[in-house]
Amino acid sequence: MMVELVETLQFRLVIHSGERERLAQARHDAQPIANYTLALRRLGYSKTDICDKVTDDLDATEHVKNNAQQIVRKACDAYDSYTAAHEKWRNSDDQDELPEPQPPSTNRRGAFPLVMAPGEGYTVSKTDDGRVGFRVSPQPYKKVEGVLRGRDRDLDRVRDALGDDSEWNLGRGELLYRDGVYYLHVTVKREQPLADPEDSETIISVDVNERNIAITAVDRDTRDIHANIVIDYGQVKHHRQRCYDIKRRCQEHGKPSVVASIGNYVENYMEWTLHRISKIVEHYVEWFPKPVVVFESLEGIRNDMDYGSYMNRRLHRLPFYEFERQVTYKTHRHGTPVIHVASRDNSKRCACCGEVGSRQDRRFQCANEACDLAQDHADRNATVNTAVKGIAKLEYGADDHAAADNYRPHKTPPVVRVRRVGSGRVNRPTPSHEFAEVGVLST
Ligand SMILES: [Zn+2]
Repeated sequence: MMVELVETLQFRLVIHSGERERLAQARHDAQPIANYTLALRRLGYSKTDICDKVTDDLDATEHVKNNAQQIVRKACDAYDSYTAAHEKWRNSDDQDELPEPQPPSTNRRGAFPLVMAPGEGYTVSKTDDGRVGFRVSPQPYKKVEGVLRGRDRDLDRVRDALGDDSEWNLGRGELLYRDGVYYLHVTVKREQPLADPEDSETIISVDVNERNIAITAVDRDTRDIHANIVIDYGQVKHHRQRCYDIKRRCQEHGKPSVVASIGNYVENYMEWTLHRISKIVEHYVEWFPKPVVVFESLEGIRNDMDYGSYMNRRLHRLPFYEFERQVTYKTHRHGTPVIHVASRDNSKRCACCGEVGSRQDRRFQCANEACDLAQDHADRNATVNTAVKGIAKLEYGADDHAAADNYRPHKTPPVVRVRRVGSGRVNRPTPSHEFAEVGVLST
């Protein structure tokens, strides 16, 4: 099976020629198209129908027609991501602690980006002096040209994608504006073959919630639990909460610039945290023979979408959602497959015997007297259930608890260590006690 890996690279525009106002105009023209699309999508229209209606109903003549269609697709993706995130939020155990996802809109800070097809709405090229040039066509026959400025690594990736024999290809570009500066987000894509989940030997379930990330690796044949790790990131949550408190007080005292910069800070902090933690999971997973990653899922959720930078920022309010997306991307990068199993009762049932137990804060207690397991860390117990369901799904084709009962681990799992994340860095697979010593986050 093949997947498409998509990376979004962010650049500033250094404009050399063309009218800058054209960009502003095109961005504003994108807003009614996005709004109209969001309204139609809510009513259940398909992407194709919306594309047709936008061309017919709105005066898109001042707009590159292909750009309009790209905007429709992006707005549809944003709306679909929102409904999926909302569904996940509605079914979450942590609903009280999580903010309710809000539908995408174009009226708030950061209007809807102008989305452009490569080679039509925008082009990039190598310049004679070794830089990367761009050309944006915001309106028919009007061009704005210049060079991109950004991280060397990202510029190299674009240069690579421009080569004939490269495995990377250019995808859509997005024009954004913030604080007087224009940015171009360029997506690059490549195909990656994935291993067949049927051939996997280690089942690794990953669960993320507001308190921690729990990972369990189970041997598919013997059902021995190879390893557990629970990464407590409560400090991240507290830090974020503190930022929100400061932000609220600034709001009350009418300091909008401080409010905006705290907002940016929190977003960047969350982005960075999720990146670091997903990186750990990436290394951890590759440590085991023939791994498959298992997530809990809910019916009707698409887990394989590229949400794009616009929606990703909004989804940072739901860390688990963005986390799953990042872990999926990073494991796919190694050709490791990802599967989903039903989430029903995973935190309520005992992973050893399958009986319904009781849960009090972080402690899970099994009510079955014949069961070896008296109590366990609740989130770890849930990941063992998820892993067992993963095995049942691969072996038997069903992921309910009745099917899982045939594949439960024989022995009581070892005593779990619950550790907080310290400071430092990780660049190789590390057992959990070393994680605790070197840590992954510095604050
Ligand atoms: Zn039990």
